[in-house]
Amino acid sequence: MQPAINLLVVGECGDGKSTLIDALRDKSRSSQPLCGKSPHGVTKNVMVYPCSVCGEPAFSLVDTPGVGDHGVTTADLVNQIEHALLHQDLSGGIRGVLVTTPVPDGRIRLGAQVVRTIVDKGFLAVNGHDKFANVILVGTKTDKADEEEKKNFMHGLDGQPSVQEVFFQNCTIPNPLCVMVSREDYSPLFAAIRQLPALAIQYRQPPQEVLSQALAETLGTGIQQMQDVVESQRVEMEKMRQEALQEKERQAQEAKISQERMRQLETQAAERRKLEREEQQRHDQEMQEAREVAACRQVLHRQECQSPRNLHLAQCDGCMQFPICGPRFKCTLCPDYDLCYSCFRSELHGHIMLKVHKGIACDGCLEPLLGRRYMCTVCIDFSSSYDLCHECFSDNGHHHKMLEVHQGMVCDGCGQRPILGERFECMRCSDFSLCQSCQRRGVHSHHEMHLAIEPLAVLPCRIQ
Ligand SMILES: [Zn+2]
Ligand SMILES: [Zn+2]
Ligand SMILES: [Zn+2]
Ligand SMILES: [Zn+2]
Ligand SMILES: [Zn+2]
Ligand SMILES: [Zn+2]
Repeated sequence: MQPAINLLVVGECGDGKSTLIDALRDKSRSSQPLCGKSPHGVTKNVMVYPCSVCGEPAFSLVDTPGVGDHGVTTADLVNQIEHALLHQDLSGGIRGVLVTTPVPDGRIRLGAQVVRTIVDKGFLAVNGHDKFANVILVGTKTDKADEEEKKNFMHGLDGQPSVQEVFFQNCTIPNPLCVMVSREDYSPLFAAIRQLPALAIQYRQPPQEVLSQALAETLGTGIQQMQDVVESQRVEMEKMRQEALQEKERQAQEAKISQERMRQLETQAAERRKLEREEQQRHDQEMQEAREVAACRQVLHRQECQSPRNLHLAQCDGCMQFPICGPRFKCTLCPDYDLCYSCFRSELHGHIMLKVHKGIACDGCLEPLLGRRYMCTVCIDFSSSYDLCHECFSDNGHHHKMLEVHQGMVCDGCGQRPILGERFECMRCSDFSLCQSCQRRGVHSHHEMHLAIEPLAVLPCRIQ
């Protein structure tokens, strides 16, 4: 890949610098400020304007706006140039310096004079190139210049040295890069850019006395005065360097924080997705359960229609109720000993009592079903069901999902009768039951609920 062509533009307010940048920069791309702010509140960003001109290699114009745009001082100009040249963030460095000066002026302005001095004292000749090989003197506003002024700029009038000769007086190469451009035509500049050496400018800040001396000579001022100027410039330069460092640190810090934040957001998003997935799974599972319960209920309803399952032609041996309504329990020891639900609950009898499932036989052991009844959610056909007793269910089970049928038990949440699947009982309210779906919805969440095991027996310690 070709190294980037970064061109530093140096000039003063009103000498065509801004017009040139504005004409060449790629307006579809925003400029990239590379540096922070000065302590005086003046933005001293180094601005990089990418330029793409049809048929020309892409290049960028580097500008230090806000410096010396108004009431330009020598110190400002030196800063402007040094700041960009010593800036470490431009990949490929600075390949050329464009010095703008209006052709109609007929002389080189302060900015151009300062640049000349800095090139002379600070640029390093690399690979045998002249120090001025990377400098292009750009005569602007050529359209406003007459023939004499143009001649004065390029070749000189009446044996006098031309503007470019004065500018390049310390240059050793025969044809230094000097072009005249106008608003309408920048093509001579592109030709000059193509002739720039491939190497970036190497710059070493000249010692304070050397620069003061040279500037005093160039500008024709007192040496003491120029020493003060350079002194203050160096202080300002150091300040800018520190600011740039701080800014870089601040940006790195910010990047770290935003990275951290991104990671947090990603984690949160992942957690949210996980919760959503779980919620979806829960929902699917509930829907599936609801379908199973509905299918079983239909069969139970038809069985109920054929013969009421909660009406038993037997007498309760506790309260003498006849016939027993609701769940009926049978003693496993005493022949023909029955209890109704409320007598069973009050634990009147000391033997193991099992619930009677009227008219239902276990499809495993083929015995009349006593105790806990499990019903297949799949093997159902109109009014016939596939049922297992607790023993057969726990011994061999069944290859389909089975639901426990809590014969005679009503859900106090939704009224489901009988409760299918898991049944929950309130620890505080007497005889308060919920089906698994009502329990999940928290229908009775103000009291503690517990999973109720269908009454199989009274506590063993009560057995005589
Ligand atoms: Zn009774
Ligand atoms: Zn008994
Ligand atoms: Zn069985
Ligand atoms: Zn089945
Ligand atoms: Zn319910
Ligand atoms: Zn309760």
